[in-house]
Amino acid sequence: MKACLRCKYLTNMDKCPLCNSEVSENWRGLLIILDPINSEVARKIKVDIKGKYALNVK
Ligand SMILES: [Zn+2]
Repeated sequence: MKACLRCKYLTNMDKCPLCNSEVSENWRGLLIILDPINSEVARKIKVDIKGKYALNVK
């Protein structure tokens, strides 16, 4: 999987399906957001779509 450089969304595609930004294979830390509206973590990283995210993307 690759992570989006902007929103950190994890995807298998060559561009982020959410924001159309570049993706990178150089990421660390998996974060699964199931309930973005009630998740403190989701708010912290400004995520409002459920899915898998990286904690760190380079
Ligand atoms: Zn993105």
